[in-house]
Amino acid sequence: MKNIDQKKRNLDDLNPLDTRKEWKLLYYKPGKPGLEEGYKLAGICRHCELKDMCSLPKPEGGVWRCSYYRAFQKKSNLYNHVLEQLEKAKDVVPFDDDICKILTETMNEIVVHFPVKMKDGRVKVLTGYRVQHNNVLGPFKGGLRFHPAVDIDEIKALATLMTWKTAIANIPFGGAKGGIQLDPADFTREEIERISRRFTYALGNNIGPEYDIPAPDVNTNSQIMAWIQDTYMSTVAPNERNRCVHVVTGKPIESGGSQGREKATGQGVVFLIEKWASDHGMNLQGATYTVQGFGNVGSWTARLMKKHGSKLIAVEDVTGAILNKEGIDPDDLAAYVKVHGGVRGYLKAEPIDHVTFFTTKADIFIPCALENQITDATAELLDVRLVAEGANGPTDPQGDKILQRRNIAVIPDILCNSGGVIVSYFEWLQNKRSEFWDLEEVDAKLRKTIIAAYKRVFEAAERYKVDWRTAAQIVALSRLEIVYKERGIFP
Ligand code: NAD
Repeated sequence: MKNIDQKKRNLDDLNPLDTRKEWKLLYYKPGKPGLEEGYKLAGICRHCELKDMCSLPKPEGGVWRCSYYRAFQKKSNLYNHVLEQLEKAKDVVPFDDDICKILTETMNEIVVHFPVKMKDGRVKVLTGYRVQHNNVLGPFKGGLRFHPAVDIDEIKALATLMTWKTAIANIPFGGAKGGIQLDPADFTREEIERISRRFTYALGNNIGPEYDIPAPDVNTNSQIMAWIQDTYMSTVAPNERNRCVHVVTGKPIESGGSQGREKATGQGVVFLIEKWASDHGMNLQGATYTVQGFGNVGSWTARLMKKHGSKLIAVEDVTGAILNKEGIDPDDLAAYVKVHGGVRGYLKAEPIDHVTFFTTKADIFIPCALENQITDATAELLDVRLVAEGANGPTDPQGDKILQRRNIAVIPDILCNSGGVIVSYFEWLQNKRSEFWDLEEVDAKLRKTIIAAYKRVFEAAERYKVDWRTAAQIVALSRLEIVYKERGIFP
């Protein structure tokens, strides 16, 4: 026990960006008996296996592997990538310099440090962020992420992507994002509840049903939204409370959530894949696909692809990667992941490593995990026709260039995963009007909205002879530019 306590202390003291020597503490040799318990107790090392970005020598040779390290190493670039993408669109269409100047900055960056009482009575001070990029098209809108790699640059990048996304989808929202730098596995459910509530309290009027509306993202869900909703409603005057139901979207149905919101992002991805496949002569019946990330977006996308007769053959998540060329049943895997917390150990498929996962030949690759996964290292490995980006920012600029050179089509994130925010908009509308739409109505409206966005992006790609990511960026900037030009700059 003494050793474990000492190890915990060492890990607590570590800055994740510190030198490799310190990082060595985080690595364990996969498969060695007894180590799994060790790393669970250390509370951090379950992130550190079966990935290939670290190359500390193993005693037997080979490499130590750690996805956690990869996330920290790569993520800080995302904001630069987002700005680079804007410049790329500007090279094609001469958007107004002043308007682009506005859009390259975020409007508000809120950082809160707030104390939370832990189960053992100690107080932990956590850091939370809410970045509001732009609200010229409507209230700020965007998810909340609980992840150890969260920082201000990541949240700025994700908030900016939200502005593009709502503009492309043509819904009356701006862009925002938030998060808390933490690893949910280090906390009990009760602690997560207290953290969510204290964060909401710390944000105060920086969020609100007509001002800035959070939603679920990585490691947050409808339950966390319900706690945020309840906390927000409890801090306003009693006669105002029921006017605040729509302070968050992605709530449980009973608390004012919408039918179809939980699956919405995946459903949007599938509607777009369907459309792309029919436009490009790909028969989805029997088509093969691989998915990275098997949380909300990944698992729903896979489950909905099943209806088209497509075959899921490989999946990777933070616990590892699996392959079965005969097909993996997404519903069965989702049930397994619910119990075991990840795909690792799923017996109806064989374990594979990160490189094998990326090398697996399939028709479609659907990244639904974190940013910067398709890079100069991995884009060359992919053997697919289409990448449908369920995640935000999964492809970095080098990876993007390689996909283009290799003629791999991409449905870019700001179009591809907009189903979530579109149905969030429907939820918000239902709350405001005290209406309840059934699933058929939500799905039909989602399909109509997202396919219209697809067509706008397709037309821009044809008109300007550019890749779809640049086309999507052009669609977003065009809409924002019109509004800024109409309204002018105050005073
Ligand atoms: P989630 O927390 O439900 O699932 C995340 C998944 O990614 C998990 O399966 C996890 O194991 C996996 N993962 C994490 N790190 C990984 C790594 N290094 N390698 C491989 N897999 C890893 O989150 P989610 O809500 O499904 O979000 C996934 C992505 O989709 C994020 O980029 C998010 O911003 C984006 N997104 C989510 C929504 C939504 O409605 N939830 C909407 C739009 C976009």
